[in-house]
Amino acid sequence: MKITLIAGARPNFMKIAPIIRAIENAQQSGKVIDYRLVHTGQHYDDKLSKIFFEQLQIPQPHVNLGAGSGTQAEQTARIMVEFERDLIANPTDLVVVVGDVTSTMACTIVAKKLNTKVAHVEGGIRSFDMSMPEEINRIVTDSLADYFFTTSTVANQNLRKSGVGEEQIFFVGNTMIDTLLTQLPKTKKPEKWSEWAVKSKEYVVLTLHRPSNVDDADKFANWMKVIDAVGLPVIFPVHPRTQKNFSKLVNKPRNIIACDPLSYLEFIYLIKESKAVITDSGGVQEETTVLGIPCLTLRNNTERPETVTTGTNEMIGDNFVALSEALKNLHAGKWKQGAIPELWDGRTAERIVSALLQLF
Ligand code: UDP
Repeated sequence: MKITLIAGARPNFMKIAPIIRAIENAQQSGKVIDYRLVHTGQHYDDKLSKIFFEQLQIPQPHVNLGAGSGTQAEQTARIMVEFERDLIANPTDLVVVVGDVTSTMACTIVAKKLNTKVAHVEGGIRSFDMSMPEEINRIVTDSLADYFFTTSTVANQNLRKSGVGEEQIFFVGNTMIDTLLTQLPKTKKPEKWSEWAVKSKEYVVLTLHRPSNVDDADKFANWMKVIDAVGLPVIFPVHPRTQKNFSKLVNKPRNIIACDPLSYLEFIYLIKESKAVITDSGGVQEETTVLGIPCLTLRNNTERPETVTTGTNEMIGDNFVALSEALKNLHAGKWKQGAIPELWDGRTAERIVSALLQLF
C-alpha cells in the first residue's frame, strides 16, 4: 500500500517520526507498504522545523509545498492549491494527517475532493471552544476523514456522538508519547543552561502561543506580571507568535528569562528537570503528564481532559488569582501525583501501521 503522510508545523513532527519508523520496520519485515512525506511548509523557521527533522531523524520530505506564513485563509488556500497539484501527480491509497494544525484540515479537504481516503491520527479530541482555530481544524478534519486513530476514550466518545462508526475508530494511544519515550535517554542540557544559572527542580518553564493569551497586549502583560512573581526563575522559550508582544512589554519581567524556541531534546530536558510548567500548549500538557511534572494550563478548556483526570495537569483558565493559588499549592508540595493515560506506552505507531496493513 502507498501512504502520503502530511506534516506542516512543529507539533506535527513529533507525531510523524514514530509512524515513519514503524513503516520502515514493517518494510524490513517484508510488508508491502511505502510512504511519501509531504511537508506543507506551514512552519519554515529552522527552529520550528529543520532542527526537529535532524533530532528526531525524520527523513527529508519528498516535497515541501512552501506554504509559508499568512492569515488562516491565506495559509489554508496555499496549502490546498499546492497539495492538490502534488496529490494529482502522486496518487496514493491513503492520506494520513496528524494533529490539528491548518495543514491537517487543508490536506484533508483536498484529499477527499480527489476521492482519496484519509486517516486522522489524534482524531476525535475536542475543546468545544470555537474561538480556537485548532478546534475548527479538528471538526472539519473529523467530519471528512475515513479512519480515526485516537489517543483517549473521550475522543472515541466524541467521534461516536458525531456519527462516526465503530469500525472507523482505532484506539491506539499517543504518537507524541512514542517520540517522548524514544528520545528521553537522548535529551540534553540547553546550550544556555549555565548562563541561566538554574538548578534542577528550582525553576519553572513557561510556553505561551495561543492567540487567546498572547495577541491581546494588555492580557499578555498581565500574565507576565503574575508569572514574574512566581518566586522562582522562569525559563520562557518564546514562540515567534508571542515575540511581538513580549518585546513591547513596558515593565520588563525580572524573573522571566526569555530565549528562542528550543530544540526538542533541549526542551524535554528543561521540562523534565523543572519544578513545574506553565503553558497553553496541547502537546506540553501531554508530555508533563507522562513525565510526572506539575502542569498549570492557562486556558479555560482542554481537548486533552485525561491530562487533568489522570495526569498532573490543572486548568487555570483566564484567572490570575487561580494561578497564584495554584502556585501556592505547588510551593507547599501539594500537587497531585498523576498517572499515565491508557495506551500512552510508546507503541502507538506500531499499532497504527498494523491496523493500516489490515485495512488495505
Ligand atoms: N517544544 C519544543 N521546543 C520549545 C517548545 C515546545 O521542542 O521551545 C515541543 C514540545 O515538547 C511539544 C511540541 O513542541 O512536543 C508542542 O508544540 P506547540 O506547543 O507549538 O503546539 P501544540 O501542542 O500546542 O499544538
